[in-house]
Amino acid sequence: MALDSKIPHGPISDKWTDYKDHINLVNPANKRNLDIIIVGTGLAGGSAAATLAEQGYNVKAFCFQDSPRRAHSIAAQGGINAAKNYKGDGDSVYRLFYDTVKGGDYRAREANVHRLAEVSANIIDQCVAQGVPLAREYGGLLDNRSFGGTLVSRTFYAQGQTGQQLLLGAYSAMNRQIGRGKIKMYNRHEMLDIVIVNGKARGIIARNLVTGEIERHSAHAVVVGSGGYGNVFFLSTNAMGSNATAAWKIHKKGAFFANPCYTQIHPTCIPVSGDHQSKLTLMSESLRNDGRIWVPAKQEDAQAIREGKKKATDLSEAERDYFLERRYPAFGNLVPRDVASRAAKERCDAGFGVNKTGEAVYLDFAAAIKRYGTEEAFVKGLDANDAALVTKLGAEIVKSKYGNLFQMYYKIVDEDPYTTPMMIYPAVHYTMGGTWVDYNLMTTIPGCFSIGESNFSDHGANRLGASALMQGLADGYFVLPYTIGDYLAPDIKMGEISTDLPEFVAAEKEVKDQIDRFINNKGTHSVDYFHKKLGKIMWDKVGMARNAKGLAEAIEEIAALREEFYKDVKVPGSANEFNQELEKATRVADFLELGELFAKDALHRNESCGGHFREEYQTEEGEALRDDENFAYVAAWEYKGKPSDAVLHKEPLVYENIKLVQRSYK
Ligand SMILES: Cc1cc2nc3c(=O)[nH]c(=O)nc-3n(C[C@H](O)[C@H](O)[C@H](O)COP(=O)(O)OP(=O)(O)OC[C@H]3O[C@@H](n4cnc5c(N)ncnc54)[C@H](O)[C@@H]3O)c2cc1C
Repeated sequence: MALDSKIPHGPISDKWTDYKDHINLVNPANKRNLDIIIVGTGLAGGSAAATLAEQGYNVKAFCFQDSPRRAHSIAAQGGINAAKNYKGDGDSVYRLFYDTVKGGDYRAREANVHRLAEVSANIIDQCVAQGVPLAREYGGLLDNRSFGGTLVSRTFYAQGQTGQQLLLGAYSAMNRQIGRGKIKMYNRHEMLDIVIVNGKARGIIARNLVTGEIERHSAHAVVVGSGGYGNVFFLSTNAMGSNATAAWKIHKKGAFFANPCYTQIHPTCIPVSGDHQSKLTLMSESLRNDGRIWVPAKQEDAQAIREGKKKATDLSEAERDYFLERRYPAFGNLVPRDVASRAAKERCDAGFGVNKTGEAVYLDFAAAIKRYGTEEAFVKGLDANDAALVTKLGAEIVKSKYGNLFQMYYKIVDEDPYTTPMMIYPAVHYTMGGTWVDYNLMTTIPGCFSIGESNFSDHGANRLGASALMQGLADGYFVLPYTIGDYLAPDIKMGEISTDLPEFVAAEKEVKDQIDRFINNKGTHSVDYFHKKLGKIMWDKVGMARNAKGLAEAIEEIAALREEFYKDVKVPGSANEFNQELEKATRVADFLELGELFAKDALHRNESCGGHFREEYQTEEGEALRDDENFAYVAAWEYKGKPSDAVLHKEPLVYENIKLVQRSYK
């Protein structure tokens, strides 16, 4: 099957407008005749559900939590990008487009990214109209801060809880439609398969997680907004429930999976502290606006700190190595995440790490506290030479910007980040890969759309900070509502789709068979036992740095682990009850397949780009070395029975508006 990305013709800045002018429309009365299933009510699915219902479609929305308010999106801390140029610092749609393509190491589709930049400003207006309390400056205008990979301030935020506030906005918009009966909300329901009738997505099979009942649901189109698959690593900053099942199930039924190996390892997370952990915690990138990253300049000092003989604050300026500022003077601490993560790993591998395991660097706010404090002393007419006063005033400003993050750090690490630098280390955070979609956000299954983190679009090989919320909300509020109408226009007279069709019966049987298999498997090990083992293989051999040997081993080890899992997993309880072990089993089964495809994709991509770093392909300075001649394409994998048999399809990436050059942030 040839991949058709359906990119409209014409100049890049006209494509989206021109597209909207010429698509098929469904008139308001006919929208009432059409049902849409939305799997996932995070920012992507929630915004889509609210908008499509407002337009008049009948929406059935599903999430596995007890409320859309608990989607993983609520964890987003730092902010959301938009090309509003409120700071007058030279931002524009083109610059956001350029930064995103460059940040993604030239592995994103130009047309989609430009559209994203175009609609970015509308998102902020929409959210403000909903009442989202984005931070404001003294004069009342919306405030901005900077994120990595850019030279402007374009990130809108609500302290360190931007995702939560945006989600509450989308959720209230959804609630209005739930109240009107236009959205039927299925909380605590998990989609376990898609139903395809005559080649088109026409429904899903879902499990009621409270009663265990298996249900059939039909619709004229199915939208998957199920989030990312970072938990394939077991430990990540994702919510514990985040999983790949919906995306993987549609992959197995015909949706190509694109660039599975593009994973983002975020540089500023609280380091792993031991085997007992089931989750990692992010310290938002916004902290790099004011925090300076460093390690001791001398290995002896690093060792003394590791042994508890010295403290960070014992080291003078001259004894510190601000390695990002040294290596990347233009962007300094605000280089993109892939660059910052690799630089931290390089210093730790070289013996400069500062925690007990040697896998941590410092994120230090002392300079910012002093700078803000001095300014505040001047503003208030106080003594700017009084060090204690300056520190107090500065800490108050830092608290107003990042207070909840500092509190979180304090609660987890039991150290006060106002007086001693935070310790941070890279951790799995976001997946740029996902189901392949065309310009309409439709997968290779007609009528099955994918939005938000679950699709592969827009971020290339590395996502810039604060761009996931932008993309999820762009997809849900402003893109899908147009493109899905174009697809649905021929179906207006079709009527309701019966769930008695043989395709529903067959899909339901498949789901029930898998559940029965788990329940009746009298194995000896818990689901987590296998998940942890998978995570270790992924982190050691498919993680921040990869090589051909390790990847080939990982592929074999994951396949063997999968076999062991099916033979020896123990799932207590029954199918007809609230059974979280069973939920985990079906999810880990999918991770065990996805992990293998992930490694296969990483092995085939003989280059380094963004979050995909192959040790064999690096510059003398240790930067990622792309091979544009052979790898400037989206790798879209077609399922053929098992991950090892997946067939590769290539969508060539053509750069007509941005010159392809090796990325530099110096
Ligand atoms: C700690 C942290 C901080 C972040 N901070 C930022 C930030 O500051 N700025 C930024 O731009 N990005 C940030 N991100 C990334 C961003 O939060 C996510 O990419 C984004 O929220 C994903 O939204 P989503 O709607 O695609 O998916 P999610 O919010 O993950 O929602 C997924 C939905 O799908 C449902 N679901 C999944 N599978 C099924 C199934 N099988 N059946 C039924 N329902 C299902 C879930 O119940 C949920 O409702 C952060 C990420 C993390 C981990």
